[in-house]
Amino acid sequence: MRILKIQTLRGPNYWSIRRHKLIVMRLDLENLAEMPSNEIPGFYEGLVEALPSLEGHYCSPGCRGGFLMRVREGTMMGHVVEHVALELQELAGMHVGFGRTRETATPGIFQVVIEYLNEEAGRYAGRAAVRLCQSIVDRGRYPKAELEQDIQDLKDFWRDSSLGPSTEAIVKEAEKRGIPWMQLSARFLIQLGYGVNQKRMQATMTDNTGILGVELACDKEATKRILAAAGVPVPRGTVINFLDDLQEAIEYVGGYPIVIKPLDGNHGRGITIDIRTWDEAEAAYEAARQVSRSIIIERYYIGRDHRVLVVDGKVVAVAERVPAHVVGNGRSTIAELIEETNLDPNRGEGHDNVLTKIELDRTSYQLLERQGYTLNSVPPKGTICYLRATANLSTGGIAVDRTDEIHPENIWLAQRVVKIIGLDIAGLDIVTSDISRPLREVDGVIVEVNAAPGFRMHVAPSIGIPRNVAGAVMDMLFSNQQSSRIPILSVTGTNGKTTTTRLLAHIYKQTGKVVGYTTTDGTYIGEYLVEAGDNTGPQSAHLILQDATVEVAVLETARGGILRSGLGFETANVGVVLNVAADHLGIGDIDTIDQLANLKSVVAEAVFPDGYAVLNADDRRVAAMAEKTKANIAYFTMNPDSELVRKHIQKGGVAAVYENGYLSIVKGDWTHRIERAENIPLTMGGRAPFMIANALAASLAAFVQNVTIEQIRAGLKTFRASVSQTPGRMNLFNLGNFHALVDYAHNPASYEAVGAFVRNWNTGEKIGVVGGPGDRRDEDFVTLGKLAADIFDYIIVKEDDDTRGRPRGSASDLITKGITQVKPDCRFESILDETQAINKALDMAPDNGLVVILPESVSRAIKLIKLRGVVKEEIQQS
Ligand code: ATP
Ligand code: ATP
Ligand code: MG
Ligand code: MG
Repeated sequence: MRILKIQTLRGPNYWSIRRHKLIVMRLDLENLAEMPSNEIPGFYEGLVEALPSLEGHYCSPGCRGGFLMRVREGTMMGHVVEHVALELQELAGMHVGFGRTRETATPGIFQVVIEYLNEEAGRYAGRAAVRLCQSIVDRGRYPKAELEQDIQDLKDFWRDSSLGPSTEAIVKEAEKRGIPWMQLSARFLIQLGYGVNQKRMQATMTDNTGILGVELACDKEATKRILAAAGVPVPRGTVINFLDDLQEAIEYVGGYPIVIKPLDGNHGRGITIDIRTWDEAEAAYEAARQVSRSIIIERYYIGRDHRVLVVDGKVVAVAERVPAHVVGNGRSTIAELIEETNLDPNRGEGHDNVLTKIELDRTSYQLLERQGYTLNSVPPKGTICYLRATANLSTGGIAVDRTDEIHPENIWLAQRVVKIIGLDIAGLDIVTSDISRPLREVDGVIVEVNAAPGFRMHVAPSIGIPRNVAGAVMDMLFSNQQSSRIPILSVTGTNGKTTTTRLLAHIYKQTGKVVGYTTTDGTYIGEYLVEAGDNTGPQSAHLILQDATVEVAVLETARGGILRSGLGFETANVGVVLNVAADHLGIGDIDTIDQLANLKSVVAEAVFPDGYAVLNADDRRVAAMAEKTKANIAYFTMNPDSELVRKHIQKGGVAAVYENGYLSIVKGDWTHRIERAENIPLTMGGRAPFMIANALAASLAAFVQNVTIEQIRAGLKTFRASVSQTPGRMNLFNLGNFHALVDYAHNPASYEAVGAFVRNWNTGEKIGVVGGPGDRRDEDFVTLGKLAADIFDYIIVKEDDDTRGRPRGSASDLITKGITQVKPDCRFESILDETQAINKALDMAPDNGLVVILPESVSRAIKLIKLRGVVKEEIQQS
């Protein structure tokens, strides 16, 4: 067995619209191609021994043990690899259930599709599954140690990729609300929503969190001063920079017990509380000095430690934090009790987990001593033995929910404090003996205000009710139903994607919105090019969706990107499918037009139920996609008598129709005429039917998004694609006594499309310079020849400089074959060199004639034409 290729899908894709995270492995079974599992001696037994838990896989029999039954009866190795890869992830704690295995057109080569939660883990599981199966085939077993290592590695991937508890809570809530989110490439930023409607978060700071508020909160002394001035109870204290000032500071705060802490510390680092002697004070001073230059000396307030979370001006959760401790059982020593407590799988390192492992520090021993213990003492059953002075979760403390207990006056005070500091999300540390009574009454204090407070003590308290604090954040960020999304219009098809995308973007611009769009030529925002290049994949889609200026996204969505990584968004508002024709067949295991149609239908299927799939009613494979999508359907047609469209309209549907020379929207009883084709430059005076079809599609896509007929008309009438904007797309040049047309048509359907225009050229003889990329199938060249014979009066057959592996002359011979098949008396010649061929055609051009060039290099062809002295660039002008 050999893995030929591993691809990672991240969006709606060929295999599933709903399951976005899939690994696709192209697997050559080699000698196992002829050997189903039941013919491999000992395979079943070896597999069950290695992975007994495969018993839980139902597979097609639909019952427990179903999959193993298939293995015993005989199934192909690709299928076994699929189930093993899923099971390995399962064993590492990642719950995945989706898998598919399909044989490709090449015998013995399979596509194995497996779901993943973590990309690296998914790819690893695929490779490990192949290794495991091969080992059982070769040796009857897979070593236990190896399996354990695999599972450990998978667990590591999973752990390393986790987001941290606060962010995790936020993205889970986003998902629950259908708010798209993505991780940006820097500073652990999370984007919620798309385009102009996006919000960003970093841990629990939002893009509304003010820098002044954050800086003030981080300066504990300044915070206290501002709060004290506002009459808020805060600890009495002072700041010193030298040990020499310590004695005086202690006196100033009223003597022992005191607290010493760094001015700008966090997570309890460098803090010592309940200091009762000079020696302790000196040591505490040194410890705080490790963290900060300036040191806070404070009165120590006796009480319990609370965290009050305020979001958007409201208290949303209150937790009491209990310092790290163990509870005696009358048998174990304190050291043993700590070890036991740390075995809790909920306790991890740092902030990764619900709880953190207890670690002892300098103050722990002091604390134990005060309680009359050492690590070797055996505390009596039921006694609590504190191990840390402060209650931070990150030092092993636990949290108890007290949201329902806080006194209304304390709520009022907390909300007021956060307003004074100026934060949208803040956590107040309050020390008080009883949170259910006003602070004033019990001498409680607000110790500090935290920007970016952690959420884990609220979403996963050790005791009490978990609070959905992330929900409050979402309510704040996306208030009063404000959408987090921007309209996404995705355009696919074999031909006309770029043209339609550009036109649709241009129409949408008439609404005054900032449109971001991606095409084969580049990515654009508004009027400007952002990045040149073939940008029709998910990365380009992300660029647009991440851009904070974009109000509408129009995305050319090509076959390659869908196949390689799936769509770059999970749902669109409009999915346009223009046509499906033979092109790129045989690439990426897409071998038939029907498979190609299935691939393109991803665009129609990944549309919201209340969105629209805009489908070509004249292309049966496209029209059939109506069955597969849950979205509303809107058809476009060049045929005013289309039965399908008539029925659709009768049922109240909407359509765009070319009728009586007009592009019209038909809805219910109404026909809204948008414009005569003749007046739309793109249609080349109405002579290019396929451009009319593209214009219908774009108009319809805009219409279902509530762009007005007037705006659509304005867009259609002002859309002029120049050579510089769309080189190689129906570029027509006036050379005085004849015209030349350059088009990058490179598949039969687009030759046909260009042909429709050429046929409408009635003033003179038509000469074609034809050829195509060498990696197309033989029959495609023959078809090209046939079409050319049908369209042109004279043909010059040429070849690309880059024959893409085809022997020189072969493509030309096939085209010639096609020509003579349909028109034995056709006038033609072969000039393999493209430059020579073009020059010959331009030399022999008759008066009022048309030279049509389908070049390999568009820029070279245009240069050759311009050398002849272009009178006027008549690009798509009526
Ligand atoms: P975190 O970042 O986890 O909030 P921190 O390093 O910012 O911690 P503080 O919040 O100032 O430190 O103090 C940590 C804990 O120490 C407080 O939550 C409280 O339990 C205790 N503490 C701090 N100052 C006092 C004080 N003056 N009196 C009583 N306890 C205090
Ligand atoms: P690519 O796959 O290369 O990105 P595309 O789908 O973006 O192509 P366009 O660049 O818009 O297509 O058009 C390329 C050529 O395809 C046009 O110049 C024309 O020859 C042909 N074409 C455009 N629209 C259609 C159509 N609706 N039907 C058939 N052919 C078309
Ligand atoms: Mg604190
Ligand atoms: Mg394109």
